[in-house]
Amino acid sequence: MARYAYVNGRYVDHRHASVHIEDRGYQLADGVYEVVGIRDGKLIDETLHIDRLDRSLKELRIGWPVARSTLGFIIRELMRRNNLRDGLVYMQVTRGVARRDHAFPTTPVTPALVITTKNTKRLDADPGPGIAIKSHPDIRWERCDIKTVALLPNVLAKQAARESGAYEAWLVDDKGCVTEGASTNAWIVTNDGELVTRQTDNGILAGITRHSLKTLANSMQLKFVERPFTLAEAKKAKEAFITSATSFVTPVVKIDGEAVGDGKVGPTARRLREEYVRFASQGEAVT
Ligand code: PMP
Repeated sequence: MARYAYVNGRYVDHRHASVHIEDRGYQLADGVYEVVGIRDGKLIDETLHIDRLDRSLKELRIGWPVARSTLGFIIRELMRRNNLRDGLVYMQVTRGVARRDHAFPTTPVTPALVITTKNTKRLDADPGPGIAIKSHPDIRWERCDIKTVALLPNVLAKQAARESGAYEAWLVDDKGCVTEGASTNAWIVTNDGELVTRQTDNGILAGITRHSLKTLANSMQLKFVERPFTLAEAKKAKEAFITSATSFVTPVVKIDGEAVGDGKVGPTARRLREEYVRFASQGEAVT
């Protein structure tokens, strides 16, 4: 069965899907994106993801390529065509196609919309053996709260992690504090059992999974605090884990080769993943 992509108004064969060479996303990284997790054919936290897309577009003064309700329809149609049950929907909006110039086009251009889907293994409550992290300097710009396609520092950090045998990179600012992962938010559980993740501001992306997990942690009566934490504190923590739309809650068992806690998946991360999987299973049904 052919796999479809949605490109500027058309559902096309994924193998031949393409955009113009002067798309500003391609030439200038002048665009934003979203990734929504799909579980049992349902979108996880659709409203929050589309709200964040709206915010990213507004911050960069890019218009909506289609009406918000139309976007929901297109996503569902693409999922239906691709028989998507578990995986993700990727959507990207760029400022559009224009003669190359750093400044915005002076004549009106239509923002470009591309949507793809990816089938993945259905994630379950079992977190597996946990992952290793490699630290990396955070060399990004000062608007990490906008979900732009300009991901080169994240790409380089992730690659350095993979080359060292780690799964994810944790980005460390000039004060020695962990900001977030290359494509995930970073959390620790202190020796006092307090759940810690960095506060949201321009320094990190306000993860949707992070947001939903915060609500779950509250309902589980876990002590939760948003504050900066250093890499040294993370290495001495009882537990650590990452969150994202595609990894849910994934425990961290090693940072820069040093075991976190006893080097095994901890009970808090395990419980939070179970709760998140339960929550994700209640998403909005695709009709
Ligand atoms: N931080 C960064 C830099 C990311 O790219 C992502 C993934 N989109 C996240 C955090 C996690 O965000 P979410 O939970 O919305 O997937």
